[in-house]
Amino acid sequence: MATKLLLTFAICRLIVTVGLTLEPTELLRLGLTVDPVDVVSASVDFGLMTKVEPLAVLRPSSAKDVAQLVKAAYESSHGFTVSARGHGHSINGQAQTGTGVVVQMSGVGSGGKPRVWGGDMYVDVWGGELWIDVLKSCLAYGLAPKSWTDYLYLSVGGTLSNAGISGQAFHHGPQISNVHELDVVTGKGELMTCSKEQNPELFHAVLGGLGQFGIITRARISLEPAPQRVRWIRVLYSNFSAFTKDQEYLISLHGNQKFDYVEGFVIVDEGLINNWRSSFFSPRNPVKISSLGSNNNGGVLYCLEITKNYHESTVETIDQEIEALLKKLNFIPTSVFTTDLPYVDFLDRVHKAELKLRSKGMWEVPHPWLNLFVPKSKIADFDRGVFKGILGNKTSGPILIYPMNKNKWDDKSSVVTPDEDVFYLVAFLRSALDNGEETQSLEYLTNQNRRILKFCDEDGLKVKQYLPHYKTQSEWKEHYGSKWDRFQRMKMKFDPRHILASGQNIFTPTFLSSSNMMVMDTPIPIKQKAREAIDF
Ligand code: FAD
Repeated sequence: MATKLLLTFAICRLIVTVGLTLEPTELLRLGLTVDPVDVVSASVDFGLMTKVEPLAVLRPSSAKDVAQLVKAAYESSHGFTVSARGHGHSINGQAQTGTGVVVQMSGVGSGGKPRVWGGDMYVDVWGGELWIDVLKSCLAYGLAPKSWTDYLYLSVGGTLSNAGISGQAFHHGPQISNVHELDVVTGKGELMTCSKEQNPELFHAVLGGLGQFGIITRARISLEPAPQRVRWIRVLYSNFSAFTKDQEYLISLHGNQKFDYVEGFVIVDEGLINNWRSSFFSPRNPVKISSLGSNNNGGVLYCLEITKNYHESTVETIDQEIEALLKKLNFIPTSVFTTDLPYVDFLDRVHKAELKLRSKGMWEVPHPWLNLFVPKSKIADFDRGVFKGILGNKTSGPILIYPMNKNKWDDKSSVVTPDEDVFYLVAFLRSALDNGEETQSLEYLTNQNRRILKFCDEDGLKVKQYLPHYKTQSEWKEHYGSKWDRFQRMKMKFDPRHILASGQNIFTPTFLSSSNMMVMDTPIPIKQKAREAIDF
């Protein structure tokens, strides 16, 4: 087996403490070596809220390696779990497992390089490939994927297991709507190719399937000619209904006369506006929230963020096109902020903030994020109850808000979205800090997330969690609603022993009782960090 499967001392400890029946000899038979560094890094994620050590880590060099491991787990007389880990950017331990092996899909030596098919306008990529590397490979051919996430240091398999959304989703749909074909290792260890035509059940189940049905080893992603430059514009609103009306108008446009990216964010915290994600609002000439009329609005402002892509050959017409689109909007007239940059710099914008935070040691803090899909008919209630209510005037991080069109999502995929033609993503991207300020502590923010969810529930807002996190199967059933029966059926078909992605806590591995699963989540200490950690 051309793999390096790494074992640690953890095996013996877990066998004793959790009562696992996994024999070290069983793993040794697969050709294992020991590397505690890999085990430690696979035991945490971006959320930094749970720590679970795997028994071993596999760094596969091919789909065959993945299939061999999963087959061994499936056929094992005792049983062990297998969790694919992309770049470990989950929040709640979704890629962790304490009862088996983590397959480290991203990283040096895994898979092969992206293969661009210029004539057919698609690229074949390894499931662990980071989107930044997919972009770089495609740009060499003047091409680029159509639908993105805001941050590119995420793996293809990781985002396709959720949906993959950003400001392009209103037009192109989420990333899962832009995939032609997948290679997947099922929970039985079979390597299968699937698409809408070939093994369609597996294809649809895996897209947005939270890693439950198979490990994506290859994805064929749709491409378009890459724009050269981007005009990036932010405008402010103090009136929520004017803000959402304009956002909804902009996502209804699909011809040439449209923006290419529509997002937005909420500003409830004076400190954030001049310090948010980039130097967009000049620090020398700070924007005063109070000067923009937010005082009449509970101190809350809303920022619409839009872009227009262009090629240098069309630079002459770009200003007029933007002018014509902006004329139809009702933002605060003095609040237009514009910048112009290469396409790749725009797509990679969040990484700049990451580097800044890393240099100050402020990236690795707990992130109690909450991502919700809110139906259009309830977004004003959400504004009243949450932005102007529960939040107070402190946020501890960016709050994104932007609408999407449901008809760009394939209902056959495993993702659940609200039952309306238009729904909003509202993303609370918090960083918890141990700086003595109660409102920034992990406990306070976690509690606030609970209050937001309770409010949505009690007021009948019918929200759905994106990047969902639940602890019991009955909560998962409710989350999936009418899709639950199919979800469960697909699980029985493609992962009958429930060995894959057990960190999602949806199905208990058949060789474990549910009480054993609870042993897996052990909180780790939060590091002392400063205020700036919210700036990404
Ligand atoms: P991991 O955390 O490693 O894995 C996530 C889940 O997918 C796990 O259950 C894992 O088992 C499974 N999985 C991983 N690889 C595979 C595979 N090859 N096959 C099958 N299952 C697999 N999301 C958006 O949609 N839009 C955004 O703009 C966005 N921005 C983000 C910015 C930051 C800074 C961070 C930290 C996250 C962001 N996310 C965003 C969320 C992100 O898409 C998810 O957390 C995603 O799961 C991360 O990918 P990963 O490769 O790190 O996955």
